[in-house]
Amino acid sequence: MTLETLSLTPDLYSYLQKISLREPDILQRLREETSTHPLKRMQIAAEQGQFMALLVKLIRAQKILEIGVFTGYSSLSMALALPPTGKLIACDQDPEFTKIAQRYWQAAGVSDRVELHLRPALETLQALLDQGEAESFDLVFIDADKRNYDRYYELSLQLLRSGGLILVDNVLWSGRVIDPEVTDPQTEAIRSFNQKLTTDDRIDLSVLPLADGLTLALKR
Ligand code: SAH
Ligand code: CA
Repeated sequence: MTLETLSLTPDLYSYLQKISLREPDILQRLREETSTHPLKRMQIAAEQGQFMALLVKLIRAQKILEIGVFTGYSSLSMALALPPTGKLIACDQDPEFTKIAQRYWQAAGVSDRVELHLRPALETLQALLDQGEAESFDLVFIDADKRNYDRYYELSLQLLRSGGLILVDNVLWSGRVIDPEVTDPQTEAIRSFNQKLTTDDRIDLSVLPLADGLTLALKR
């Protein structure tokens, strides 16, 4: 019995993975391919992908926005959980990373559900609003450049329907958020973003110590 969140030892973490992970072959292959990439640490954890897929099904999402695709692990996890009529708008500005993502969307048979917008994500979000797509998304996953988190969040709130869900990755930032010696712009941006959400009454809030910290913000 405990009133506090458990700290995971490596053995307990392995156990958690052993009893819960059901990574589909295609995602496992993408993880293996990304593991040779110098920026492999940007990819979400397998248990996080599985959790996000569960959320997609739980809220019966039809329309998803992803900000930060990289090689596609999170987008593919969510796209596989969408119904065939669903849509995922994927935002990134790197053609090399997303070439890999596109190859896997294709192989998984979900490329008809995924629409890649290859330009700065702020431009894509603004264009969606200008095209009249406000209040139309069920779920947004924010995982691109940390200094723009607040801007992505504000635009996402506009794009989301009431009762829609925003997921924000890396909010615990390997623990650097509580290290006063760390004052780089990315860390500061995450700190002030986290602080802002604490009292934001436009949302219901939960912060999970899953992987590198995942915020759930439900639009009221
Ligand atoms: N969600 C991914 C990881 C994303 S890593 C996964 O699960 O694997 C962050 C991504 O954000 C990188 O691919 C980077 O190219 C992209 N990015 C960074 N700044 C951006 C910007 N201003 N606009 C669009 N994409 C950006
Ligand atoms: Ca991330």
